[in-house]
Amino acid sequence: MQNTEIKTTCSYCGVGCGIIVKNDSKNGVTVAGDKDHPVNKGMLCSKGMNLHYVVNDTSDRILYPEMRWSKSHPKERVSWDNALDRAAAVFSSIIKKHGPDSVGFYISGQCLTEEYYLVNKLVKGFLKTNNIDTNSRLCMSSAVAGYKKTFGEDSVPIAYADIELADTFLITGANPAFCHPILFRRIEQHKEKNPKTKIIVIDPRRTDSAMAADLHLQILPGTDIVLYHAIGKRLIEKGYVDSDFVKNHTENYQLYKEMVCNSSFEKASKLCGVSVSDIHLAAEIIGKAKGFISMWAMGLNQSAIGVDKNTALLNLSLVTGQIGKPGSGPFSLTGQPNAMGGREVGGMANLLAVHKELNNPQHRKEVADFWGVESISEKPGLTATEMFDALESGKMKAIWIICTNPLVSLPDARRVEKALANAKFVVVQDISHNADTAKFADLLLPAAGWLEKEGTMTNSERRISYLPKGINAPGEALSDVEILLNFAKKMKFSGFNFNNTEAVYKEYCLMTKGTNIDVSYLNYSRLKNEGTFQWPVPDYGHPGTPRLFADKKFFTPSQKAIFNIPTSIENTSALPSVQYPFILTTGRIRDQWHTMTKTGKVSRLMTHTPSPVLEINPIDAYKSEIKNGDIVVISSKNGEVRVKAKVTDTIKEGVLFLPMHWGKQLDNDLNRTNNLTNTIVDPISKEPDFKYTTVSVTKYIKP
Ligand code: SF4
Repeated sequence: MQNTEIKTTCSYCGVGCGIIVKNDSKNGVTVAGDKDHPVNKGMLCSKGMNLHYVVNDTSDRILYPEMRWSKSHPKERVSWDNALDRAAAVFSSIIKKHGPDSVGFYISGQCLTEEYYLVNKLVKGFLKTNNIDTNSRLCMSSAVAGYKKTFGEDSVPIAYADIELADTFLITGANPAFCHPILFRRIEQHKEKNPKTKIIVIDPRRTDSAMAADLHLQILPGTDIVLYHAIGKRLIEKGYVDSDFVKNHTENYQLYKEMVCNSSFEKASKLCGVSVSDIHLAAEIIGKAKGFISMWAMGLNQSAIGVDKNTALLNLSLVTGQIGKPGSGPFSLTGQPNAMGGREVGGMANLLAVHKELNNPQHRKEVADFWGVESISEKPGLTATEMFDALESGKMKAIWIICTNPLVSLPDARRVEKALANAKFVVVQDISHNADTAKFADLLLPAAGWLEKEGTMTNSERRISYLPKGINAPGEALSDVEILLNFAKKMKFSGFNFNNTEAVYKEYCLMTKGTNIDVSYLNYSRLKNEGTFQWPVPDYGHPGTPRLFADKKFFTPSQKAIFNIPTSIENTSALPSVQYPFILTTGRIRDQWHTMTKTGKVSRLMTHTPSPVLEINPIDAYKSEIKNGDIVVISSKNGEVRVKAKVTDTIKEGVLFLPMHWGKQLDNDLNRTNNLTNTIVDPISKEPDFKYTTVSVTKYIKP
């Protein structure tokens, strides 16, 4: 396919920037920001503007199916027919012998909506197990649960267009300057034009986002709820409550008021490591805001108390009535390009398509009827970490991994290694041999990547875009939809007579009819001709819905939003001890994406931070006799990491930071941060506690 120009969407973060891709015989694929796109208006960040390197470099691609007949045999090239015959035979025989829950699928927020829908239908509807989860479990599941508890359904209320209508931003547990750069650029541009705009950042690190803030509350990890409650108390004391909204559109306010007003600012200050005057100042700024937007990401979600953190933050929007009107509302930032699309099609172990719940018998019946199957199992599926526990213990025998690299991204990496080694059968369906997990595959299936297949995605603001196929996939790689349909055929399942990806989307859209995420009037033709739409799109002429709850009617039975009272206000999942005196928090750096299988091969993206470094406060470094540039050993009860130290006052005393991206690229795996992290999860969302691992650090002495 030569000399073409197409419009598509970036395959990295949930911002969802529009990209123009040119493909010609001289330059190959080149990319540029789409000036007409409502999200990025022509801008791209470092990752997006280097996407063409990833597409043009096919040196690491899996080009044909590879299979091994036993763990002791090397993998060899096989035909697609043989590969899927084997997959069907092994899955059928394991299910026959050990039951449907002995197999599982682990998928990705990078899968397109059609792929997500199809694999969920296949697993929940036809394989008869709910053991299908996604790496979005590691980033968004606490936000999903928080929205449900507060608004009655998983629902991001606002749009990026609200940024330009707001005058106050609270960015908490997020570093959008690095992780959602174009979104942050829009906030900066808005502030440049409107200097009275205020930005508050809550983070244990003085990140690039914090440096741009008017007020940085450098909080101690795990104490976010205490801080939000103290801000809530001050808002109430100073009369910044929207009484009309609270009275007519919320429940539980009195309980909330009693709880926050019974706490003391001094105690909160001591627990959070933030001065009382700064707490008061934050409340003053929020209370006076005309348009108040709160934004958050993994700092809240990846916690043993992640759901409580989410609801405690949402309470601040309810107290001030800052929701459902232009320039105001809470806004969870999505890490992956289609994490939102995955939520729509029920892409998690506890969900069903179109925001239906697995634990609701009526919902299970409705979905089963729609798919033409007798029933859907009522047994909750295993979530991400639970699946690998089950593989390790032998309860689960086979796993099919699509477009994700759990060996680097899941907590306690050595346990994941053991789990994969213990599995009877591992299928890895991916684009690249680079993914560390691929080495454990008994069956390796070559998938088409970004630009090599068509489908749809939904970004952080509920905006659905159509991604056309621009180039052919290398070798024998097939789209995930083709692979899944061929597997369903081998399993002799009915209900998969789709001629193409568009037919899959059509079925999904039909399923949304009458729901809160209704896109039954949307189709490929409208997306191609009219551009992107924010759900719901409940009519033919409907332009989409930028803002939810404009009528102040929420999705709860009473149509009122709920003030939630947390079960715990502090993360005490692993308190610092003499042996492990530091709290380790993990996160992203500017130019890398997830486990670096794509960005890691772009040399210009390796210059900003060429190798992982441990951030340590100068006082901690002095006490530990560590100098800038020293190699240090970081240890937790789970394992060890050995990297260079960066002594910096941008991090709070007692706290350490490591980037999460690196895996086993060296001849050892001592740069893999998840060697250290623990497998504690939030009891509701089952999202891991990545931001709170107790560790020790010492200077490395060569033996
Ligand atoms: Fe891609 Fe996100 Fe960068 Fe936009 S901000 S170009 S979506 S990585």
